[in-house]
Amino acid sequence: METNQSVLEKTARQWLRERGVTVDDIADLVYYLQSKYHEDLKMDDCRHNVDRVLTKREVQNAILTGIQLDRLAEQKKLDEPLQRTLETDESLYGIDEVVAFSIVNVYGSIGFTNYGYIDKQKPGILKHLNDKTTGECHTFLDDIVGAIAAAASSRLAHATEDDKLLDD
Ligand code: MG
Repeated sequence: METNQSVLEKTARQWLRERGVTVDDIADLVYYLQSKYHEDLKMDDCRHNVDRVLTKREVQNAILTGIQLDRLAEQKKLDEPLQRTLETDESLYGIDEVVAFSIVNVYGSIGFTNYGYIDKQKPGILKHLNDKTTGECHTFLDDIVGAIAAAASSRLAHATEDDKLLDD
């Protein structure tokens, strides 16, 4: 099982990179969300918390599922009506958000507020993922990346509260 888990994590991290999203991109979003609450917040702390979120199996599965569907939509390999729904990022679809919630859920309720906020503001990498002129499809990935940032922010907030770094 241990080996299996690390294959899952390695693949999830690799697919994120292949889709143009780095750990630093997500750490930037965490910084965006948290710097006003923490004096002296370091990018290293943001990066560390993103890394910890990426060790979670639920998160890895959400990444793989979402990116797989985005890729199939980009290659026009889905059946209708799903193909058109994903390709056009139809606003009433909502399953991309359900997948994102499975990530936000991992670290409790602060995550939902952060997710809602960052989804509205779309800073940094989220702006790029939402750019419809690139020909790429990131219907799932934009929500997933926002959710990872929100979860990492919650983790950081809890860790600061407890004045220690949680390692689960
Ligand atoms: Mg979306």
